[in-house]
Amino acid sequence: MSSDMNSIGIIGGSLAGLRSAEALRSEGFAGAITMVSAESHLPYDRPPLSKQVLRGAWPAEQVQLATPNRLTELDVTFRGGVRATAFDAESLTVTLADDAQMQFDGVIIATGAQLRHLPGTQDREHIYGLRTLDDSLVLRDALAALTPDSNVVLVGAGFIGQEIATVAAELGHRVTLVEGMSLPLLHIVGESVAATLTALPSLKGATLELGVGVKQIGPATSDALAGVLELNDGRSINADLIVVGIGVTPCTDWLEGSGLTIENGVVANDRLMAAPKVAVAGDVARFHWIAPGRDEHVRIEHWQMAADGGAHAARSLLAGVHAERFSPVPYFWSDQWGKKIQAVGRPDSNDDVVFVDGPDDEGRFVALYKRGNLLGAALGVSRPAKVMGYRALLERGASFDEAIEHARS
Ligand SMILES: Cc1cc2nc3c(=O)[nH]c(=O)nc-3n(C[C@H](O)[C@H](O)[C@H](O)COP(=O)(O)OP(=O)(O)OC[C@H]3O[C@@H](n4cnc5c(N)ncnc54)[C@H](O)[C@@H]3O)c2cc1C
Repeated sequence: MSSDMNSIGIIGGSLAGLRSAEALRSEGFAGAITMVSAESHLPYDRPPLSKQVLRGAWPAEQVQLATPNRLTELDVTFRGGVRATAFDAESLTVTLADDAQMQFDGVIIATGAQLRHLPGTQDREHIYGLRTLDDSLVLRDALAALTPDSNVVLVGAGFIGQEIATVAAELGHRVTLVEGMSLPLLHIVGESVAATLTALPSLKGATLELGVGVKQIGPATSDALAGVLELNDGRSINADLIVVGIGVTPCTDWLEGSGLTIENGVVANDRLMAAPKVAVAGDVARFHWIAPGRDEHVRIEHWQMAADGGAHAARSLLAGVHAERFSPVPYFWSDQWGKKIQAVGRPDSNDDVVFVDGPDDEGRFVALYKRGNLLGAALGVSRPAKVMGYRALLERGASFDEAIEHARS
């Protein structure tokens, strides 16, 4: 693809950023590519951080997405360990924390998301969060250093919280999940599926404290290395190790005053363009999603979205006015409690839900989400082939009746 650009800056050196660089080269871009990343590690994969790395099954090197050789092959200049602190979307100038200024002909924003913290818990001993490789290694060592049967408390029972809880339980600790909603994942998967998923941790002996918030975390005691969690309902829980998993916020601080629209992410059009010559992808992107049954701005924090979005953002940047619509079928998975949860499409807690398979005694099932008259999503537990079978239907905007027929066939 020919382009009038000689230099492209990719800000954020993780999955979306790397896929952007790869797509720029595969589309024939021959100019300079500079990748700026706040982390000093070369691009690496995050899903194993709460799974294989945390349980000690994989060494850190196994999560690497790109070796130094790969970046050389792609002719990418990697500037790691330095944060972008400002951006001007008109002149396409990026300012870095070391005061360097870099001017590009095109920019791809891929700065992802960062952890939300409980006030007063940052930097407290035995209280952790998990977003980066370094976080994962520190938490892995801390979990392994506890004597078995210690009290591990997860604040937040979202996907990553449950994955961490799974590993803690496998290591022989007593695990409690404290969740403010009446059911884990309620806002994402809706009531009937959330209620069914609740069986998974319960089957493995984890304790769920639902519909209750954490008022504060009191100081450590001889029975609680990390502190005593005081709950809103007056109860308290001793904790030897606490992981706070209450979600993330998009990394947009550096874009204040940039001229871009920031509203829970960088707002982009249906081509992933946030401004002329500025594309955006991954967890930081809030793009206009136009697809069968969809016409809305969404920010979707899934691996697949960052991978596909990264490549698409690069193609859009090069194609200019000929850029094509980004119309993905979202996909996510989570490995927890010995099961694989997968979803294609986008479950919505307001959709009607029909279970077309299960749930069986081990918690396996497939549920379909009805959005208007269309299939909105399929979500399953340890039913990979069945769940993936709905991808093609979602791609062509199949009706819900067709999906039900597919389930019966
Ligand atoms: C522990 C964990 C487990 C996960 N498991 C799953 C899973 O099982 N299934 C699934 O679908 N998804 C999973 N995800 C989500 C998936 O990994 C993310 O959607 C994906 O990493 C997003 O990629 P990204 O490149 O957009 O952003 P990120 O991976 O967040 O990378 C952004 C990069 O930009 C850097 N950066 C931020 N601000 C700046 C700045 N100002 N200047 C320079 N650099 C900056 C960051 O340091 C980071 O390196 C998981 C995520 C985590 C954390």
